[in-house]
Amino acid sequence: MNLAIFGGTFDPIHKGHIRVVRAVGRAMRMDRIFVMPAGDPPHKSGLHITGAEDRLEMCRRAFTGFPKVTVSDWEINREGKSYSYNTIKAFHSLYPNDRLFFIMGSDMYLTLEKWHKIGEILKMCIPVCLTRTGDDLKALNDKASEVGGALFVKVKPIVISSTEIRQMVAEERWDDAAQYVNKDVLDYIRERGLYRSEPSAE
Ligand code: ATP
Repeated sequence: MNLAIFGGTFDPIHKGHIRVVRAVGRAMRMDRIFVMPAGDPPHKSGLHITGAEDRLEMCRRAFTGFPKVTVSDWEINREGKSYSYNTIKAFHSLYPNDRLFFIMGSDMYLTLEKWHKIGEILKMCIPVCLTRTGDDLKALNDKASEVGGALFVKVKPIVISSTEIRQMVAEERWDDAAQYVNKDVLDYIRERGLYRSEPSAE
């Protein structure tokens, strides 16, 4: 079986993330995609991040009705920093006979050699690099020769980030937010009063 892991902070999950899951699922004929909110992302330490249970619940709501998507609490239930290496190692052990893919944006792909235990990671999974029009294809190809290849999936991006959504909610721009966030997720944000005051995001 083809299994993929798509990790992120998902604070909150938005339609850009959902498009990625759909595009990779279609392009690579994935049997299962694990959407995995990070517990304590190493590259975002110091920033305010919404509680893991809220981020998990928003992901569950966003992917209701996606039979091939499993929202996984594996990283959230682990103590300490979420390194991709730990996650990939665990899933590789759980599914030793399946093909494991790891989905990432092209910005992350270009920094691959700096990842914790990248040599080990590449023995266990195949990177799936999301590309978009305007990406530096030469830089991506150079990286592919350097690190040993990846699958490239072109995704027409929805120009949105979680940061922008948090700002929209803090400013009560609900109609704007509704364009980029699934209704059940937005209802949850309202019910729980999330993002009402956005501390400086960057
Ligand atoms: P923030 O604004 O808080 O940094 P974000 O919107 O970038 O958040 P993350 O949870 O950090 O969301 O992203 C998880 C993954 O989704 C990353 O690999 C990122 O490249 C990808 N991603 C984020 N936004 C989009 C988008 N609009 N279209 C396609 N991929 C996206």
